[in-house]
Amino acid sequence: MRYASLPFNHNEPGWPAGGHAYAPQPALRGDITADWVIVGAGFAGVAFARRLAEIKPELKIVIVDAFTTRESASARNSGFVIGLPHNIGSSTAELKKAHAYRNLLQEGIRQLEQEISQHNLQCDWQKVGKYHCQAERGNDRILNEYSRHLDLMGEPWTLAYSDELYHKLGTRFYSKGIFTPGCVLVNPAQLIAGLHHHLPENVQRFENTPVLGIRTGSLAEVVTPFGTIRTAQVMLATNALSPELRPGLARQAAMATFASITEPLTDAQLATLPPMQSWGVTPVNAIAGATFRFTSDRRFLIRQHVIPALRGQVTAAQTHQATQHHQRLFSKLYPTLKSVKITHTWSGTLSVTRNGAPQWGALNRFICTAGGCNGAGVSKQTVAGSLLADFMLKQDNPHLADMLSLGQASFMPPSPVLDIGIALSLMKERFLGRKEK
Ligand SMILES: Cc1cc2nc3c(=O)[nH]c(=O)nc-3n(C[C@H](O)[C@H](O)[C@H](O)COP(=O)(O)OP(=O)(O)OC[C@H]3O[C@@H](n4cnc5c(N)ncnc54)[C@H](O)[C@@H]3O)c2cc1C
Repeated sequence: MRYASLPFNHNEPGWPAGGHAYAPQPALRGDITADWVIVGAGFAGVAFARRLAEIKPELKIVIVDAFTTRESASARNSGFVIGLPHNIGSSTAELKKAHAYRNLLQEGIRQLEQEISQHNLQCDWQKVGKYHCQAERGNDRILNEYSRHLDLMGEPWTLAYSDELYHKLGTRFYSKGIFTPGCVLVNPAQLIAGLHHHLPENVQRFENTPVLGIRTGSLAEVVTPFGTIRTAQVMLATNALSPELRPGLARQAAMATFASITEPLTDAQLATLPPMQSWGVTPVNAIAGATFRFTSDRRFLIRQHVIPALRGQVTAAQTHQATQHHQRLFSKLYPTLKSVKITHTWSGTLSVTRNGAPQWGALNRFICTAGGCNGAGVSKQTVAGSLLADFMLKQDNPHLADMLSLGQASFMPPSPVLDIGIALSLMKERFLGRKEK
């Protein structure tokens, strides 16, 4: 048995707690059995567990995570719940795929909204749309293309120039931006905690229970440090982490990205800006540029800097470097707010596939997976997880056709070719987006 490499972020996420109080779960001690074991407690794992339990309430479902719900990328992200794919494309095939993605993302939002309203989850869910902005002046190629693709999709959008953006966002950093109304902003840590809290009763949870390996024979055996779970089926929701658990050739690579949050602005600091509601900005270049948010409790969130992290490990030094990048960027955008302090910088995992398609479905007789978020996973991993339950239990669901139409992630070369490929593509993106930071 190959032992899994376990992820570790040497930092603490900074999303304000609240909503549903976090209820610690026990670690697995001893040997147990289950009908299904889900490895990974982020949006994919939770959505899969919820749907599985809904279809078959008699199943014994176990969900294990190496850490706690507060540690997954699902609790560490920037909280943009997107309803449209980031990249659309204009060929017939690309547009067909973009339509399928849109249907799926909107279904993901619908499922989250249903849980939020059914359980009255407090997670700062705000339907405020988002701005897709560029800083560079005089080169409008990317935004022009984006607006053309939105038209082809029949999606509403409006264009704003620097002055108007200043009144919405309080900064003159951006030259232009496209506003689309369909994005929701959320406190992701509160959302995932609430979803966990309301999992059906036939889902048993174990935290701080890393899966070291999966043995297969007549059944599967999920091996953890202090206990084994014998089961008929395993669902991997590890987001490119612990790649040793996935049978077959690699199709996903783990990268890390960083976010920082500031202390809330005081009245005096707020008075230096135009009056603002909460808002979100995504950059035209996701690798070099920064995602920015202004939250309803007057904090700024900055997500920027992407590094390779094939084993899901991020050091304190890398975190410190990200804080410095974010501080510099924040001062550039908000020169009147130099005294505002960043309280936390943290990292989390993105799973990236070579062709942008997900790694989704059965991997062998025992193991299935929903991975390959490619940078956006709140709505996407929710729908990928829930549809996988329908697929595995052979339930009819009209969204399965959209999911299957996305195709499969292509193979990735092993290290060191993979490491070199990732380093080169990051270098290229950083160069192309150098004017966005
Ligand atoms: C800083 C940042 C900002 C982001 N911003 C956005 C955004 O604004 N909008 C958006 O849609 N997406 C965003 N993303 C991406 C999004 O967070 C992910 O796509 C999504 O959370 C992936 O969900 P998941 O359930 O697939 O995996 P995860 O949430 O990563 O969950 C995987 C879980 O598997 C567990 N695990 C791994 N190995 C093992 C093992 N061996 N044993 C047991 N457990 C294991 C991990 O501990 C983890 O909890 C962002 C990501 C980051 C890091």
